[in-house]
Amino acid sequence: MNSIDVLRLLPSVDQMLRKPEVQDMMERHARATVTEALRRVLQETRQSIMEDEYNGEISAGAIEGRLVRALDERLKKESRGKLREVINGTGVVIHTNLGRSPVAEKAVDDLARLSGVYVNLEYDLQSGGRGSRHDIVRDLLRDITGAEDCMVVNNNAAAVLLVLSAMASGKEVIVSRGELVEIGGSFRVPEVMEQGGARLVEVGTTNKTYIEDYRRAINENTGLLLKVHTSNYRICGFTRQASREELAALGREFGIPVVEDLGSGMFVDLGEYGIGHEPTVQDSIRSGMDIVTFSGDKLLGGPQAGIIAGRKEYIRKIAKHPLARAVRVDRLTLSVLESTLRIYAESERVVERIPVLSMLTMPVDRLKRRAERLVELLAGIEPYAEIAVETEYSQVGGGSLPLERIETRVLSVQPKSMTLNQLEEGLRMANTPVIGRIARDRFLIDVRTVFDHQLPVLAKMLAMVLSGGGDR
Ligand SMILES: *Cc1c(COP(=O)(O)O)cnc(C)c1O
Repeated sequence: MNSIDVLRLLPSVDQMLRKPEVQDMMERHARATVTEALRRVLQETRQSIMEDEYNGEISAGAIEGRLVRALDERLKKESRGKLREVINGTGVVIHTNLGRSPVAEKAVDDLARLSGVYVNLEYDLQSGGRGSRHDIVRDLLRDITGAEDCMVVNNNAAAVLLVLSAMASGKEVIVSRGELVEIGGSFRVPEVMEQGGARLVEVGTTNKTYIEDYRRAINENTGLLLKVHTSNYRICGFTRQASREELAALGREFGIPVVEDLGSGMFVDLGEYGIGHEPTVQDSIRSGMDIVTFSGDKLLGGPQAGIIAGRKEYIRKIAKHPLARAVRVDRLTLSVLESTLRIYAESERVVERIPVLSMLTMPVDRLKRRAERLVELLAGIEPYAEIAVETEYSQVGGGSLPLERIETRVLSVQPKSMTLNQLEEGLRMANTPVIGRIARDRFLIDVRTVFDHQLPVLAKMLAMVLSGGGDR
């Protein structure tokens, strides 16, 4: 049969639409969607027939069967959302590009229960009058952090901008030169300051700043003293920064508020798990900071949010600023945040129940077992790849604890019939995308950031891509 003969066997759009399998598809998808997809499938099939991909004997029935399968595949692909589950095999626990923190199971359940109905977001059930959305997590945050008052906004960048706008607009803000950081995604302290209408006064040097440097810079225009946690880098060696206690005392002496941007908001000290020290929010409040801001979705392991904690008088002023309305938090975030905070406030097993903390503190023998389970699930892969469990190091990510390298286990894959780049691309484009990395001439999947329930899917995607199989 030549191409022309095969083309004659192709059914028309109308013929295809009458087929029971296609009728079934129209129960699940809009008629126009099915018709459009069908036109494209027919067009592509015509193209491949012309390119001689259908040579040999083929029947009309076989062609129709192929068309139905191709149509089904296409509709499935088109109807899946843009935002999809991916398997994080990078070992970077707080991976900003992969959504930072997966939230606790309890938070997911609560969100599912509350997001599709009305809630008392700004409604006081006791009085029947208007309530404040800030009341939802205020008590929880006060209990956990020890702060007098708290509020929540869209993210920490917004929190810093709002605090500066409300507390220091038109005034001078004193910051150490060693703390003028840029956070990923072009959040630069000097630029945020400018947006907030505050004038930056830099003191000290990159590696050393003394409390006397701040004192000398204070004048009648000083609005606040700002401390920024240098989350994503460390200045090592001959260094010094003024302590929180020194700053708090200086602020009190002159009646100037002291604000700290903590970046990652930690409530528990992971020091006992051998993971480097990151100051907790409680530390910061206790040492006398008037206002502290931090993220909800970094080491806290909750939703994207910016939390502002500190003295009541300042929180009141910040909440009244016009910008507060522009950066206000939504109810889906508040739901997830409340559930997450409840785990911190009430649970004995916090580290176990907050996914990012559980991943960071996972013992090596558990990681080893997880990697070995993956090897078992990949039984029979030898013709396509050499696989092994190897020792590597995970990172915290999210600009937190940049120097920390945490021992982990990875599945290392050496494909036999494709390049590493082809494997990487195949996994990235798979039905459930798998993100790993190429290093030392191997493809590495760090099991620390893979959930146990994802292991079978991960194995299936690997087997499919390595064997060059379909259904991707
Ligand atoms: C991450 C970070 C921010 C920005 O927080 P987002 O929640 O991402 O907006 C601001 N300041 C510091 C020090 C940070 O580490």
